[in-house]
Amino acid sequence: MGNYAIAIHGGAGRLMAGVFTPEQEKAYHEKLSEALQAGYIILTNSGTAVDAVEAAVRILEDSPLFNAGKGSVFNCEGQNEMDASIMNGKNLKAGAIAAVHTIRNPVACARAVMEKSPHVLLAGHGAEKFAAECGIEIVDPSYFYDEERYQQWFATKDMEGASWAGDTYITNQVNTEKKLGTVGCVALDSTGNLAAATSTGGVNNKKFGRVGDSPIIGAGCYADNKTCAVSCTGEGEYFIRQSTAYDIAALMEYKGFTVAQAATEAIKKIAQLGGEGGLIAIDNQGNISVPFNTSSMFRGWINTQGEKFTGIFR
Ligand code: ASP
Repeated sequence: MGNYAIAIHGGAGRLMAGVFTPEQEKAYHEKLSEALQAGYIILTNSGTAVDAVEAAVRILEDSPLFNAGKGSVFNCEGQNEMDASIMNGKNLKAGAIAAVHTIRNPVACARAVMEKSPHVLLAGHGAEKFAAECGIEIVDPSYFYDEERYQQWFATKDMEGASWAGDTYITNQVNTEKKLGTVGCVALDSTGNLAAATSTGGVNNKKFGRVGDSPIIGAGCYADNKTCAVSCTGEGEYFIRQSTAYDIAALMEYKGFTVAQAATEAIKKIAQLGGEGGLIAIDNQGNISVPFNTSSMFRGWINTQGEKFTGIFR
């Protein structure tokens, strides 16, 4: 059995230490830990990297603590509109969905697109129809409602444009920094296969139909056994423009960078454009890199030695 390892993120942001009560901070660590463990147990039992990343992301989607699945941010019409993706580094197959309102676990549908359709990306109503055809759980849009998220949107809805969930908006009652976080997972399994998955509600008050980097293969998600698996978080428009997730794989393949060098370089390029965010990356030996240029990124990993870490702040 070869090395295996896993890393997750729950979104980059501008959180500063002290923003949470000790109980809230504990709740984040516990949920990150639960998601890591769910993926890791699959890897320990010789399961696939694809199974591991899906399992971990589903747990984060089901938690209202993060901006994915339940707890997603609201768009300019006060609706939750979600995106997700998954990629298998073994065969470069990928699946993604965008702008969906009724799929409980968007990552599960992204996986169905990858495995049960000839396509890579399905959007909107078509994605939802496909999910139903595949027997994936459909819920009423009200399932995704979260009061704190709604208040966050309501307080900012008349402001110009969309706000990345990592933005700092301290309003009268609502500190919108308190809940944010696209989620993602990357894993290396014991047979040397890599996989990545990303899921998000996008950015607060986004224009209807706005699609970020999370479901764009090569931008917010990428996996290739030759090099690495990557999941990104941050201001999606920058990650799309830089093809960030693929950029890391390309820097490793064509320039011989290590995963840490490539991931750091990719985040530097985001910063140079004026963007903020972070990412998790793992190479085909299980080396993990989690750079971010924000003050916080919910993150965690279990490395090839079985050592576990969860963190929030820089
Ligand atoms: N990257 C996500 C998007 O732009 C948001 C985030 O990661 O916070 O949709």
